[in-house]
Amino acid sequence: MNRMKNNFHMLPDDFRAAGHKVIDWVADYHAHVEDFRVLSQVKPGEICDGLPDSPPQQGDSVTNILPDIERHVLPGITHWQSPNFYAYFPSNNSGPSILGDLVSSGLGVQGMLWATSPACTEVEMKMLDWLVQMLGLPEHFLNSSKHGGGVIQDSASSATLCALLAAREQATNGQTNEEGCRLPLVCYTSNQAHSHVEKDVKVAGLGRKNLRLIDVDQEFAMRPEALERQIVEDKAAGKIPFFVCATIGTTSSLAIDPIPEIAAICKRHGLWLHVDAAMAGTAALCPEFRWTHNGVELADSYAFNPHKWMYTNFDCTAFWVKDRHALINSLSVVPEYLRNQASEQGEVFDYRDWHVPLGRRFRALKLWFVIRHYGVEGLQHHVRQNVAWAQEFAAWVKADSRFELVAPHPLSLVCFRLKSGDAASEQLLKRANESGKIFISHTKLDGKYVLRFSIGQAKTERHHVEAAWKLISDLADRS
Ligand SMILES: *Cc1c(COP(=O)(O)O)cnc(C)c1O
Repeated sequence: MNRMKNNFHMLPDDFRAAGHKVIDWVADYHAHVEDFRVLSQVKPGEICDGLPDSPPQQGDSVTNILPDIERHVLPGITHWQSPNFYAYFPSNNSGPSILGDLVSSGLGVQGMLWATSPACTEVEMKMLDWLVQMLGLPEHFLNSSKHGGGVIQDSASSATLCALLAAREQATNGQTNEEGCRLPLVCYTSNQAHSHVEKDVKVAGLGRKNLRLIDVDQEFAMRPEALERQIVEDKAAGKIPFFVCATIGTTSSLAIDPIPEIAAICKRHGLWLHVDAAMAGTAALCPEFRWTHNGVELADSYAFNPHKWMYTNFDCTAFWVKDRHALINSLSVVPEYLRNQASEQGEVFDYRDWHVPLGRRFRALKLWFVIRHYGVEGLQHHVRQNVAWAQEFAAWVKADSRFELVAPHPLSLVCFRLKSGDAASEQLLKRANESGKIFISHTKLDGKYVLRFSIGQAKTERHHVEAAWKLISDLADRS
């Protein structure tokens, strides 16, 4: 009845009461997340089958949804926020990030233009400038610099796509946007680069065959001489090389491409260099790990994911370009209904011109909450701890004659395997994950099956890492 009187809307007092309950529920989830089996056990279709076939005709109370989350949703959750989550890379969150995101939802602004909510643009500009300082990135990326600037993208995949489009328009004098792509453009990345590069090349209509996967060295880093040889060969064949995506911290093994050498080649041949540091970017918070970012000042664009290792809820990729006009020229379209004085006068940033979608949420708030809560010092503390534990873990692996390390491990990821081979290593992974006590994932390096132990979950402590090694080591006896 209440609902009818109020046009079905939730009454303000009901919102407040239900909101408190939801926050309590999330707080309880975080307090107990360690008790769940890390990896969801449901079969395909099971969650779908548990939900009603048709939508409710009459509305219900939000507080009635909470028990259904326990019943119908939690069984299908893989607990990414568990301290025992060591798979892939982390996608961690934190109290301040969740609350910042809640404020963003509460304000509900759509920040496509500066004029549609100046704070949405300007807080973001400031956060990206803070991050430049925090990571020791070059000053030409600052929003306050003459030509450069930074923006939040939904993912590293989108950041690379935007870099690729800016590079394409620069290489073709804006003609690709006008006429379609008619030139034999080619681009380059290593055979260890993340799969999104190939996807972006497909999205951009460049053709997968025009993406060259460059060979790597024994540490899985791109071979600069192989890159240059391929560029020269392509030029000789009448192609137009225009773009390189290098990686600081590959997904398989956190390998670091030699950016200074690659940048020199890009300069010699006139190619745009994008650097993808999705996971490892966060390491640059600590001066002692900034060597991983040598040469980044020579890149045309750079991206990393606070939504991986910097306690900020997905989605939040920080993306910078040295020349913002190259980016804006490739993406800007101005329909009459969005014309406004501030934009026309060119005094403001309209972030809709910096990425593919028009609309955008106020994502900078969660970054602001995170950076203010932890301070630079707090974020550095956690990176240092995670790296130190990974070094300990690697030492335990090394000291055990049944195992071998298969890649350098200067940061938070350890790649290892059983010397007895692929089948045994795969069995070990299966048993470890079926135990429910930890979740690890795998990759292939040099054609061999490899286990990845990635530390970076916000709740992980040293004793968790120790227990995980004990479990892996015990299970190895039976593999
Ligand atoms: C995780 C990862 C990505 C993909 O990140 P999204 O933000 O999910 O697109 C890209 N590159 C590297 C090196 C990664 O590790």
